Amino acid sequence: MMINVQDPMIDIMQKARKGDELNRDEIAYMYNEVDIKKLGYVARILTDHITGRQVSFVSNMILNYTNICNVRCNFCAFYRTGKEDDSYTMTADQVVERLKQFDSLYGIKQLLIQGGVNPDLPLEYYTDMFRKIKENVPGVGINGLSTSEISFIARKEKTSVKDVLISLRESGLETIPGAGAEIFSSDVRKVLGRPLNSGQQWLDVMETAHSLGIRTSATMMFGHVENAYHRADHLLALLKLQKKYNGFLSFTPWNFEPGNTKLEKEGLVTRRVGGEEVLRNIAISRIVLNQRLPIIQSSWLTNGVEMGQMSIYFGANDWGGTIYDEKVIPATGKMVGNLRKETIIRALKGIGMFPVERDNRYQIIKSYV
Ligand code: SF4
Repeated sequence: MMINVQDPMIDIMQKARKGDELNRDEIAYMYNEVDIKKLGYVARILTDHITGRQVSFVSNMILNYTNICNVRCNFCAFYRTGKEDDSYTMTADQVVERLKQFDSLYGIKQLLIQGGVNPDLPLEYYTDMFRKIKENVPGVGINGLSTSEISFIARKEKTSVKDVLISLRESGLETIPGAGAEIFSSDVRKVLGRPLNSGQQWLDVMETAHSLGIRTSATMMFGHVENAYHRADHLLALLKLQKKYNGFLSFTPWNFEPGNTKLEKEGLVTRRVGGEEVLRNIAISRIVLNQRLPIIQSSWLTNGVEMGQMSIYFGANDWGGTIYDEKVIPATGKMVGNLRKETIIRALKGIGMFPVERDNRYQIIKSYV
């Protein structure tokens, strides 16, 4: 890889190698100007310094316990108002039965459980569900509820987010997924149909969780109406919070799937971004977050196994999960398959990487080298 000595990417690379923080102009420059191959080259070198050729994955299951939601985002094809025939809310027993069914087949280590923001469900619904999950499948780590769900429960119960989190943790909640971050900018969130303060709310709930010692994930949804500076500000906001408590376990950049969403119907987003943009976001995330947030997850779920493999070359070091029973992406009309862990191991070995299986807390439980 030839990099010209006049190239501003040289300075960026040197700063990243030293662990210095990049500024928003440098990040936006990488989004707007830099050749994707250069980004991949730098991102992979940084990743090699963090985890070498080791790439983790988890045997997980995503369970969407309700599709009833009172937020009604313009980018969401999954939610129902509660009046439609296909609206549903699972009971705690149904959730446990479903989990047991998959656990007996696949040995589930992580349960990502989230739904819509269903106004009828009290805190007790969740505490009861989490307790039953841990009683029946004690080996599974509950990675549960978006910040929107947690904030709503606090409002409904007329209590604080902190007290809700403490109750949820006592009932079995282990970690919180990063859903709902989208892009923090209020201008972007307005178009997405998210409540205006919801970006700050996401950061506040995560900060409260981190201050209690509850680890969480972080995400960014790109490829809709945002620009390079919105993405840069998003990454820098995550970095700022990470420096306070080191509470984020991983970061996943997702590309927006426009199918069946209001944004698509209104012509605001007519197509999904291509693979080049996916890889650019993976690489820039690595260069910006670097050692501070060492796990970057590939998004094979929407982009397929081959793009998952390419993401590893561009700086990802976690494959994500096997994923069973997810319903949000299929609602956009995009078909997603489940992966057996043997397929993930084969995919990783096929590109010269060392697969390791992890649990919900990113602790390695088995090596397949
Ligand atoms: S993205 Fe989540 S909060 Fe928004 S409408 Fe869909 S289910 Fe509700």
